[in-house]
Amino acid sequence: MRVKYINDVGMVDRIPEGVRERLTEVQQRYAFRVSDYYLSLIDWDDPADPLRRIVMPDEGELADWGSLDASNEAAHYVAPAVQHKYEQTVLLLVNEVCGAYCRYCFRKRLFMEGNDETSLDIGPGLAYIREHPEVTNVLFTGGDPLILGTARIAEILAELRSIPHVSIIRFGSKMPAFNPFRILDDDRLVEVLSRHSLPDKRIYLMAHFDHPREFTPEAVAAMDRVIRAGVICVNQCPVIGGVNDDPATLKALFRKGSHTGVPQYYLFQGRPTAGNLPYAVPIVRGFLAFDEARRGLSGLAKRTRFVMSHESGKIEIVAVDESRIYLRYHRARDPADRGRFMVCRRDDNAGWLDDLEPGGERGAGGFDDRALGPE
Ligand code: SF4
Repeated sequence: MRVKYINDVGMVDRIPEGVRERLTEVQQRYAFRVSDYYLSLIDWDDPADPLRRIVMPDEGELADWGSLDASNEAAHYVAPAVQHKYEQTVLLLVNEVCGAYCRYCFRKRLFMEGNDETSLDIGPGLAYIREHPEVTNVLFTGGDPLILGTARIAEILAELRSIPHVSIIRFGSKMPAFNPFRILDDDRLVEVLSRHSLPDKRIYLMAHFDHPREFTPEAVAAMDRVIRAGVICVNQCPVIGGVNDDPATLKALFRKGSHTGVPQYYLFQGRPTAGNLPYAVPIVRGFLAFDEARRGLSGLAKRTRFVMSHESGKIEIVAVDESRIYLRYHRARDPADRGRFMVCRRDDNAGWLDDLEPGGERGAGGFDDRALGPE
């Protein structure tokens, strides 16, 4: 099926003309793009339709709030378009285009004029990886790497497979949700993925479904093709206000993912990124929705962790009680933080680690972080 992309909100005729004009102002600041396939999934009779919220601009995005690089990714560039934050993993930002632009994207700066963080030239990235034998994982991200042509993807995979210490190659992609025909209609892509997903060195597709309704028959068929090609699939997404910030939706999302062979890997706390105020959910509310969603699910459906991708590392929100929030470094930039357990005062308005006040010393409140073991 030929999927068309629309880059101007003024062309979305399901939105009343006066509203379209106001949303044009928003798209002048934060880029707009959507596929006609995804537009067809929206319930236009419901102004609060969650799929509509994922892709259609909201005037609240213009509020003065947050920063464009909330986790300071700028600090992790080691070469053009190459980020290295955790020892084993290198990120290659291979393009600045996605099947649609998620309004809550934490990398929306990439889609702004003048940004040069991405590059189609992965030469510097390959050179860096070759010189760093500790790098066993390479993640293609951006932008969406599956927007690249199949011939380019084949070249990149061949180059990476020539580096002996690279085992896992990951594609972070929302194309199965935004345009599953990218996979359904391209046998060559499936063959290329199959050829390079080896028995002892797999390719992973880090899919990005935010809502159970995105698992359409086409999306499920696309994931099936990828799974049958020998690619390991998982899902990751943030908690998004008005989209999936309630237990029933999260539960349905986790369940659908596990049934489809795309179990949830991480559920992210949304970063305080400029433009994302309408989608922000406080940590406590997000955790309580997550915790309730997990109840009654099978073990496979609830393996996910609720984490915050903070500048200092990936921090799991482990528990919340009447007065405290309990957190633990799942991955840490500074080795001294690895596995570190933190107790903070409960603050129902806090949205990020930086908003929290310490609420206890290590080992306080009956918790002994040593008992939890190393990372
Ligand atoms: S697909 Fe990913 S990178 Fe692209 S807009 Fe959505 S969240 Fe951002």
